[in-house]
Amino acid sequence: MTDFLETPLQFLKGVGPRKAADLKRAGLLTVEDLLYRLPFRYEDRSHMQPIATLRPGMRAAVLGEIKSANVALTRRRGFKIFHIVLGDQSGAVRCTWMNQAFLADILKPHLRLVVFGDVKLDSSGLHFLNPEYELVGPADMGPAEAEPYDKSGPEPEETVHTGRIVPFYEKTGTVTPNMQRRLVRQALDQLPAEIPDMLPADVRSRLSLVSRREALEASHFPPNEAAVNALNTFRTPPQRRLIFEEFFLFQIGHAWRRHATSAELKPFVPSVDDRIRASAAKVLPFKLTPGQRQAVKEIVDDMLKQQPMHRLLQGDVGAGKTIVALLAAIVAMENGLQVAFMAPTEILAAQHYSNIARLLSQSRFRVDLLTGSTPGLQKHTLLSHIERGTTNLIVGTHALVQEKVTFHKLGLVVIDEQHRFGVAQRAALRAKGLRPDVLLMTATPIPRTLALTDYSELDVSKIPDLPPGRKPVRTWVKPESRRDEIYQLIREQLDAGRQAYIIYPLVEESEKIDLKSATEMADHLQTEVFPAYRVALLHGRMKQDVKDRVMLSFATGQAQILVSTTVVEVGVDVPNATVMVVEHAERFGLSQLHQLRGRVGRGAHESHCILLYQAPWTDDARERLKAMADTTDGFAIAERDLQLRGPGDFFGTRQSGLPKLRTGDLVRDRDVMEDAHREARQLVDTGGLTPDLMTFVQSKWQEQFGLIEVG
Ligand code: ADP
Ligand code: MG
Repeated sequence: MTDFLETPLQFLKGVGPRKAADLKRAGLLTVEDLLYRLPFRYEDRSHMQPIATLRPGMRAAVLGEIKSANVALTRRRGFKIFHIVLGDQSGAVRCTWMNQAFLADILKPHLRLVVFGDVKLDSSGLHFLNPEYELVGPADMGPAEAEPYDKSGPEPEETVHTGRIVPFYEKTGTVTPNMQRRLVRQALDQLPAEIPDMLPADVRSRLSLVSRREALEASHFPPNEAAVNALNTFRTPPQRRLIFEEFFLFQIGHAWRRHATSAELKPFVPSVDDRIRASAAKVLPFKLTPGQRQAVKEIVDDMLKQQPMHRLLQGDVGAGKTIVALLAAIVAMENGLQVAFMAPTEILAAQHYSNIARLLSQSRFRVDLLTGSTPGLQKHTLLSHIERGTTNLIVGTHALVQEKVTFHKLGLVVIDEQHRFGVAQRAALRAKGLRPDVLLMTATPIPRTLALTDYSELDVSKIPDLPPGRKPVRTWVKPESRRDEIYQLIREQLDAGRQAYIIYPLVEESEKIDLKSATEMADHLQTEVFPAYRVALLHGRMKQDVKDRVMLSFATGQAQILVSTTVVEVGVDVPNATVMVVEHAERFGLSQLHQLRGRVGRGAHESHCILLYQAPWTDDARERLKAMADTTDGFAIAERDLQLRGPGDFFGTRQSGLPKLRTGDLVRDRDVMEDAHREARQLVDTGGLTPDLMTFVQSKWQEQFGLIEVG
């Protein structure tokens, strides 16, 4: 059976080569393209208003008979006005179309007509000006006068543009909304009673999904009893069925890839016994929170499996992800396996290295640091240690797996603090023929719907709690003009022995200016505002050894104020710092602000985050800063950020993992994505993938969702 949906649009009745070319330019090639471009809104024109009840200012639909029609010339040469009088049993009303004299050939006396539009009042009474119109019933029906009309309007099949709940389409190129409406109607009329459906029957029945045909019909031409509100928010069962279908097909691709990679077994599978448990307990400097304990359990359970782990560890800023990763590392090392621990910046790598080295100082494991600035000779020695296996844990930047590093027995890779990183890095690992366990840790909480999209192939562990004793950071949103009060607050904190960050934005196009202002600010603060304290400056343009020295001076308390661009954004841990001032806070995204705020509130002392803004600010900026003041919950902030910025911009840069969608919306339809994710995984894991779905995944999936192959 050939699939009617694949029919090129030029084979639809009424579509000639010209129109087909227009449609093609608008991206509409097949019947399927047309039917899966859903209306973006719906308008209820089903209720026919008796003409006698029309009032000026109403937006109304009226059904009546054309009593008279004529074309009038205006004083402006060549400008014509077409008038009709439309009557129903209750009265009559004028309709006027400007400069559309051709209507005289279409709208002839005695025909039944529906008009829809705004009711106006002028010197000669009520009228519709340029209303939408549609003839009703066969043209040869004759005078309709004697026929009493049904209050509920004409049969829904009869009209397309009026007299029903009417779909509105986005205008694309030369394809007008009205033209699209007519075409869709035509395509639906020609659609066979049975069309193929890729959704398996048990999924359909479990989720009570309507048939594909019914869904297409009712999403374009809803029955008159449908709720217009629900339609406009895309919550009716037919619309949801189409959205589910799309999300399900997307998730099937991920589930299948996940399944396929899990068939590749690990070369080394760790095991755990009491000795290893005791060894892990020995390095623990504190009691784990319940969330951390649960995460460790999920991770270690994965490590004991034959298939490589591919897990995302989510937790708010400061939730304590590092120690969880370190415990996993100990399990690997106790099994004679090597661990690569990667961070996005050299500052962070150095920080992880010193923490981990300290925690493991009593153990027999050797920890090393390898970054781009490791001197050549030392690097050479390090590489040979890694190759021989004398290095047990190697900390480095993300380049670690891509460089010419040869491991002896790589068992676990921990990737800290970066979005989207895992996919490319895993591909690099596989290219080297390595199949270690991989644990990803994100820089900030990711809204669930994006986690299900961008990280769909991963398993997710979440640390929902924070270590005990954390005091929430107090957040202040202040205009820049109140700077003096802020300096006063900083002074009090410094006098009490604490430290402060002052952050400058660094936007690429004005990098030089911002760098200059950060540098000048540091000078100004040092000489004029805080002469009694030491002010340090850190920015991305500095050489690595300079950065390291600056960071060290702040971490050890030699410098009390750190003026910095956003290089301290992720991960940096200086518990004695209690003030975070963000200059030009209106320029930052929510997740970024949350990250910055996460640099304070890490110790026992109460902390402050001051968001300084410069007027004028946009509504969005106001919303963002308000959200920051309202909550410190990173997951709530991430959801808000997604709503404000949309999925494409959430991560700051456009993500390759986000699908191109035709019916669904990642923000609006997030609950549908949850269902789709669950059902797709279950189907694939239980071996229920149908031949149809298999073919789709292998030959169409990538193209349909516009995804770049990475892994
Ligand atoms: P993040 O999840 O942001 O990477 P870190 O791993 O850097 O957080 O941990 C933040 C701070 O909390 C560190 O100083 C760490 O030592 C401390 N910490 C982590 N877990 C606990 C715990 N269970 N009890 C007390 N302090 C903890
Ligand atoms: Mg961290």
